[in-house]
Amino acid sequence: MKAVVKAEPQPGIRLGDIPVPTVGPEEVFIRVKAVGICGSDAHIYEWAGGFEHLKKCLPMVLGHEFAGEVVETGSRVSGFHRGDRVTSETGLTCGRCVYCLTGKMTLCDQRLGLGRIGIEKKGAMAEYVLCHGSLLHRIPEGVSFEEAAMSEPTAVALNALDQVEIFPGDCVVVLGAGPIALTLAQGAKAAGAFPVVVTGLTQDQSRLSLARTLGADETIDVEKEDPVEKVKDMTGGLGAAKVFEVSGSARAFNQGLDMVRKGGVLVAVGIYPENISVDVTRRLVREMKAIRGVFGGSRLAWSRALHLMASGKIRLAPLITHRLPLEKADQGFRACLEKKAMKVILFPDSSGFS
Ligand SMILES: [Zn+2]
Ligand SMILES: [Zn+2]
Repeated sequence: MKAVVKAEPQPGIRLGDIPVPTVGPEEVFIRVKAVGICGSDAHIYEWAGGFEHLKKCLPMVLGHEFAGEVVETGSRVSGFHRGDRVTSETGLTCGRCVYCLTGKMTLCDQRLGLGRIGIEKKGAMAEYVLCHGSLLHRIPEGVSFEEAAMSEPTAVALNALDQVEIFPGDCVVVLGAGPIALTLAQGAKAAGAFPVVVTGLTQDQSRLSLARTLGADETIDVEKEDPVEKVKDMTGGLGAAKVFEVSGSARAFNQGLDMVRKGGVLVAVGIYPENISVDVTRRLVREMKAIRGVFGGSRLAWSRALHLMASGKIRLAPLITHRLPLEKADQGFRACLEKKAMKVILFPDSSGFS
């Protein structure tokens, strides 16, 4: 079967022909209908450093954001049948540790050892993929394969929202205008936040206008306006109740801490290349602000992601800027890295493309 393979510890990928896997008793064999390129896939494509630990996984088949159709189920899998439309969580966890038992699966120490799809295990940028039966979620009616392929980033956005309590009428600011940021903003809106504010750079104009289309009440171009002043103005000098920092910028992080009101919470979702210094005495002690971090999606967030897609409260199709056959994966990766793409979806069954 054809697959997008990362074979060498250097930039790039190639389209390979790999053997069709055999199905284990607890596994499900899925025909991939749509698979997204995640920021992390693009980083692995680039191989710019910090990936030495993945060298042992090569050759890798990338792709963990996907949806497809069940072709065959292992002898011990129940509840799924041939033809079912499904998406899968990224990887197994032990199910017994304090983190698994409290719903914080991404903190499970066994997670990497058990293997994640698209990293330690063969991913979904291929005609078929094998998944553990316990990780599957059925795609609700009305949700397309390409939307369901975005369940993972949606689960990440919901898991971020789950870190704080959002009350109706809370001002929520999302710093950043990428796919996770715009999904998070829609989730905040669904939770009753008002106003929901999204920030971006001048080059993010089209993303900010998409944010407004998807329900953001205000957007701020941080290169043209001071986001801290603007948020204070909007809230009668108070500041935002909750701020989600998704951009991964140290400057935005500190602005987030400035614009959140006293007693409010800043949630760090981004990946920060450098350490960030914070005025702990002023911001955390005297002003009783809190900083939380969040990593990955939780199992509960996964099924809610699919429900919110079905309800139309979270719209993902407008985030897709590129739809490409699997053969043109390289073009998709380059569009991501050149920041020309919001979301790229690849289709292994390219019969619909010319
Ligand atoms: Zn992802
Ligand atoms: Zn565990």
